[in-house]
Amino acid sequence: MSHRRAWMMTPLETPPLPLTGGCQCGAVRYTISGPPVVFYLCHCTECQTQSSSAFGESLRVRLADFDITGPTKVFLRPIAKGGHQTCTFCEICGTRLTHQRDGYGDKLNVKAGTLDDAQWLVPAGHIWASSKQAHMDLAAYDLVYPHQPETDTDLEARWRAMTPAWHPEG
Ligand SMILES: [Zn+2]
Ligand SMILES: [Zn+2]
Repeated sequence: MSHRRAWMMTPLETPPLPLTGGCQCGAVRYTISGPPVVFYLCHCTECQTQSSSAFGESLRVRLADFDITGPTKVFLRPIAKGGHQTCTFCEICGTRLTHQRDGYGDKLNVKAGTLDDAQWLVPAGHIWASSKQAHMDLAAYDLVYPHQPETDTDLEARWRAMTPAWHPEG
């Protein structure tokens, strides 16, 4: 029997699938036809730089559920432990749309601010809290990791519990 935590939370009012989104100029559009695997925020300094803001948003989806159209360009960011992260942008307006790490072959992370409707989002947790900007108050969250968690198992389990309409099996 797998370990389960009794999460105290109100389920999210998840929107109907597919989720849709795109870049700032409208040339690149995408759809997400299956339930996202997890949503979390990253406060590492790389994410502060790449977002030119306070944190990075990762809405992880299965590649099989993801469809993107329009002119894109990629930037291959070297990763400290080897390999690359493929960062995809609109070629015209430069909006950053997705990240995919080598080795995450069947999933990618959508930069969730590009969803047409992002208001329903609540993160399952926060990673790299040790380098967060001082004004970010994470006291309300159960899952706050000072650095990279060893696995995303707990983040994914909490996300499933937060989104019962998408994960009726729990
Ligand atoms: Zn664009
Ligand atoms: Zn980060």
